[in-house]
Amino acid sequence: MRFRTRLHVNLEYLRENYQQILKLTNNKRVLFMAKADAYGHGAISLISYAHKELGIREFGLATLGEAKRIRDELPDLACDLFVFSDVHLEYQALYDFYLYRRVFPVISNERDLNFLLNRSEFKNFPLCIKFNTGMNRLGFTMDQVELVVNSLKNHGRTNVKHLMSHLGNSSVDINKDRSAVEQIDNFQKIKKYFQDSKIEIEASSIANSGAIEQSIGLDETHVRPGLIMYGPSSMNIDDRAVSRWRGKNISKLETYVINSFHVKKNERVGYGGNLIPEDGIVALLAIGYGDGFSTKNYKPELAYNGLIGNVVGRVNMDMCLVFFSEEKNSIRKLEKDLQAGASFNLWDHDPKNILDLSDRVNSIPYELFCQLTSRVPRVYGTSI
Ligand SMILES: *Cc1c(COP(=O)(O)O)cnc(C)c1O
Repeated sequence: MRFRTRLHVNLEYLRENYQQILKLTNNKRVLFMAKADAYGHGAISLISYAHKELGIREFGLATLGEAKRIRDELPDLACDLFVFSDVHLEYQALYDFYLYRRVFPVISNERDLNFLLNRSEFKNFPLCIKFNTGMNRLGFTMDQVELVVNSLKNHGRTNVKHLMSHLGNSSVDINKDRSAVEQIDNFQKIKKYFQDSKIEIEASSIANSGAIEQSIGLDETHVRPGLIMYGPSSMNIDDRAVSRWRGKNISKLETYVINSFHVKKNERVGYGGNLIPEDGIVALLAIGYGDGFSTKNYKPELAYNGLIGNVVGRVNMDMCLVFFSEEKNSIRKLEKDLQAGASFNLWDHDPKNILDLSDRVNSIPYELFCQLTSRVPRVYGTSI
């Protein structure tokens, strides 16, 4: 565990982001996607706050194990948990979570649907069904709509709890690429087929962050935002201008300078004796691949607070060396800002920071958030 390298999470910004989503979607109900430990921010704290303080009643997880953990650690949470991919209907030992503890598998194939329809324990169990409208990952295909409806009818089912689909291309400007809009049209056809067949749809959703940012897929009861709840836009770099999203990054990744020293051109530092290209200052930061800060991602420039540096050589397990040249930076500012003990933020609450960083290192904010390891404490507050 670290002490001074930490991810600060401002819960007040989560509230602001949620309120902005309500505004952009005309008060659609939010099924908050909190898989992968709430995109690395800590699912227990975020779900607990989102439920108690924001009144969110539905949460999306990827695995039954994630849902189990929420139920085990927050037993009094009166909300629905949806499991989107690893539903594990074969794990009989965990049926109680489905039968009595408000965990719902999202059914996306015939085998799982037949299993639920035919098991006596699941006789009246609410069904959540996902269709593949064009992303081609998970879900019943368009050709299977009739088959699904007939199966439901043959088992005396007259309603579904939540009908879903997921968009494959909503982070691209819809004026350049219409595939998200086509998927939404397909979803409307599926819904109509259900309705014409007298199967009631209690809830439906298709919009993820990119769709909300572009105001599409909002003709449903729910939206399912992930990334924008945490702050950054999910749009691709070239398409961000069309986004209506103006959120705050709920997290700030802070580390500090363990040591810093002047270096001269052609001096060698670190593993492998990396040559320093110009005169400047090297700062040793308390973050390494043991924290989820890897050479692969952080080889290029690091910029923060007006300072521009370059990671020197390989990021180490526990630390990394960053070189700041006197040419690119003011030496006085370097000496002042990089003193041993000084804080250094890899990103802060302005989403531009993490977006710039992820663009520069050819990654995405999703990945930068999720790769932080458990050695980095998550610290929660409403004014940090
Ligand atoms: C992760 C996920 C979302 C949220 O996606 P974002 O791009 O983070 O908004 C919505 N629906 C499903 C099925 C998902 O897996």
